[in-house]
Amino acid sequence: MAPPELRYDGQTVVVTGAGGGLGREYALFFGSRGASVVVNDLGVSFKGEGTGSKAADVVVKEIQSAGGKAVANYDSVENGDAIIKTAIDAFGRIDILINNAGILRDISFKNMKQQDWDLIYRVHVYGAYKCARAAWPYFRKQKYGRLISTASAAGLFGSFGQTNYSAAKLALVGFTETLAKEGLKYNILCNVIAPIAASRMTETVMPPDVLENLKPTWVVPLVAVLTHKSSTETGSIYEAGGGHIAKLRWERAKGALLKPDDTLTPGAIIPKWKDVTNYAQGEHPDGPANAMEILEAAGAQPPNQP
Ligand code: NAD
Repeated sequence: MAPPELRYDGQTVVVTGAGGGLGREYALFFGSRGASVVVNDLGVSFKGEGTGSKAADVVVKEIQSAGGKAVANYDSVENGDAIIKTAIDAFGRIDILINNAGILRDISFKNMKQQDWDLIYRVHVYGAYKCARAAWPYFRKQKYGRLISTASAAGLFGSFGQTNYSAAKLALVGFTETLAKEGLKYNILCNVIAPIAASRMTETVMPPDVLENLKPTWVVPLVAVLTHKSSTETGSIYEAGGGHIAKLRWERAKGALLKPDDTLTPGAIIPKWKDVTNYAQGEHPDGPANAMEILEAAGAQPPNQP
């Protein structure tokens, strides 16, 4: 049997940073599957320099000439309100938000300038927040929303020369996990992806033969599935690239239970180190309450949560 062809008729999708790379592929896909698309792009270099309307305009034209519906928006994601307003003004609604816009300011921590830290934070974290914040009331009111934010392996695992980027990207994991909890009863599903794809962002650090196997189009199907109305997935992290798609989760080792009194000294932890790090008997927590359950099961009084 042929796999189902997912469609998004009647829905409006906002894709940030859709003038190139991954964002362009998402926008073209949604435009070809019945959705109205807001193609947002500030038209900057991969380091965040300059501005321009051409990148977004070209993608809008591509969607329109293939028979799809699209409008451009040239605001920075830091002005999320203006981007979502474009969706409402042009199409009257917003159903799917893809927080994709991004830049790099790679530099060793020792040499990093304040501006490198601030700019990465503003585009990735503040920008994603501003766009989601502006879309949220519409999602809640219509009891429907799909939100994808874009993390990175650099955020999940660390990456030399990318403290600013790693911190920002992992922030989007926490952001998404909490939004998923707040959005659940309104059918607002929120997930985060860590893509890997050939783009101007990666072409300076990866050789051409590797890039050839990392087409950005191969990330699109995961985003399509997660944002479709049939999806029930929320609050999760996925990696996608080169045809490999996998869900990630947190893992907690078995852990040591020590008496919470004056005997809880460094010297008391050392003999228990095997338990502290024992993943063979680990578990997969999905909320702060899980840690409290361990204490309750051990008969301890759970401490007040911060
Ligand atoms: P890209 O540089 O090709 O595209 C990013 C787009 O975002 C550009 O068109 C740029 O003009 C736009 N943009 C930048 N700042 C903006 C702002 N303030 N407001 C609006 N638009 C802005 O990069 P890409 O590889 O397609 O990356 C897309 C996303 O995926 C980014 O968030 C990136 O961090 C993330 N990512 C990419 C990879 C990869 O392998 N390509 C890996 C991990 C994460």
